[in-house]
Amino acid sequence: MPIEPIVIDAIINGKKHKAEKQAPRENPANPDETVGYAPLNTRAETIQAIDAADAAFTMWRETSFDERIARMRRAIQKIKEKTPEIAVLLAREHGKALYDAEGEIAVSMMWMEFACDNIADVLQNEVEEHNGGKTIIARDAVGVVTAISPWNYPISLSTIKIAPALLAGNTMVLKPSPLAPLAVSKVTELIANEFPPGVLNLVHGEAEVGVELTSNSKVAKIAFTGGTETAKHIMKAAADTIKHMTLELGGNDAAVVLDDFDVNDDKAMRRIVISNFLTAGQICMIAKRVYVHEKIFDKFIEKYREAADKWIRVGDPFDKNVTVGPLNNKKQVEFVQRLIDDSKQKGAEVIKLGKVLDEELYQRGYFMQPTLVLGADYDDPIVEQEQFGPTVPILPFKDDKHAIRLANNSIYGLTSSVWGKEEHALEVAKHIQAGTTMINTAAIQGLDVRFPFGGVKQSGIGREYGKEGLLSYAETHVINIPKTLDLPYIPE
Ligand code: NAD
Repeated sequence: MPIEPIVIDAIINGKKHKAEKQAPRENPANPDETVGYAPLNTRAETIQAIDAADAAFTMWRETSFDERIARMRRAIQKIKEKTPEIAVLLAREHGKALYDAEGEIAVSMMWMEFACDNIADVLQNEVEEHNGGKTIIARDAVGVVTAISPWNYPISLSTIKIAPALLAGNTMVLKPSPLAPLAVSKVTELIANEFPPGVLNLVHGEAEVGVELTSNSKVAKIAFTGGTETAKHIMKAAADTIKHMTLELGGNDAAVVLDDFDVNDDKAMRRIVISNFLTAGQICMIAKRVYVHEKIFDKFIEKYREAADKWIRVGDPFDKNVTVGPLNNKKQVEFVQRLIDDSKQKGAEVIKLGKVLDEELYQRGYFMQPTLVLGADYDDPIVEQEQFGPTVPILPFKDDKHAIRLANNSIYGLTSSVWGKEEHALEVAKHIQAGTTMINTAAIQGLDVRFPFGGVKQSGIGREYGKEGLLSYAETHVINIPKTLDLPYIPE
């Protein structure tokens, strides 16, 4: 039975705001179906939202930690109560399997709770007394923060910004991606309702809105998650007014499987498969190229295929047997297909993995059966580029030095993983250039909101999650009362 499409509004200064234009959001499993409509806000409406955040800033920065935390905890409670329906909406608009949508909300709640539990400690003033004088190192709010999030994990990559920003005394304007705007708007509304008008504002739209959010002189900080190319535009737009920035960008994460990895460890093999294909490969921190020691290469491929065929079940996101849903959008399907076709043309072997559970649905939606690419060259586009989809090249290496060189041969450095005996893996891990390196696990399976997350090289600037993720929404403000006022080298 068709479900009535939902309509989302912008939130400006605590009020729902009807935009003149709306954009439909389709269901990727069944593109004929419209899941809902999100506003296409104008530049003028974006300015209104920034002005509202700016007007609320002084009041909000003066509120106590206790009050900010209490409000955020009430919001968390409201989101938890609504999780089942929000997860369904997320799965319908995004395409990710329902368990994956529920998992995304659960991780978001863990982070919001961590932020509530730790913000006051992390941002408390440090006071140092010296020679009768005193110095206070205060952590002040930065100001108006604009948050721009992508479509692949819309709720967690928005709440990762909202929670620390508001708790630290900043106000915010959030713009989610038009490719998954609905569920995150529901979550944002639940949060905004618990805060004074103007503290959390929501706008939707394309680049025009993004440009205002990143260049407006009232914006003090940009928190962006998305592609590296988009980040370059954002840095240019922000340059004239020197804004603070946290940038969480693309990745091309390497998994290095050492010669002492146990190919008969079925659980570890399943973890590798999941680290390649969870959310149909559309995760920044998924293992996007796998390097395996040549000594175990053939056996590894045999066991990998067995594990993949068992775990990968492609189909309807609401079918409990399904592990991999459709891709989020047609453009992404076409991009991934181009990379696969290019590899085939160059002589690589492309092997289908797992099974398709519903052939008719598969033909209708943006589905792609996961594939393994063997025989690609180290510098082929499928290896060098972020594919962000359900295909993975697996390539051999000769020794640890070779593996480290291959892993580091990238403009990106988000996460990475090393698989093998722990001591050995740790030794190799130390040489990999990445924000995170996991041992015997990868991607979301090894994610822990208590620890900082972010990229090196063109994978980003700054960190989210962990105490660093809280600190990044504050400015250091030194208040100094020195008692030795007269410097001896300055003449009278
Ligand atoms: P994208 O860069 O196309 O879009 C991200 C957001 O930026 C969207 O809301 C979009 O509307 C907005 N935007 C587009 N042009 C803009 C402009 N000129 N100014 C301001 N905003 C603009 O990314 P995407 O396709 O939504 O997401 C996929 C990318 O995100 C991948 O590269 C992935 O690796 C990356 N990603 C990184 C992380 C991380 O934590 N490092 C997490 C998830 C996704």
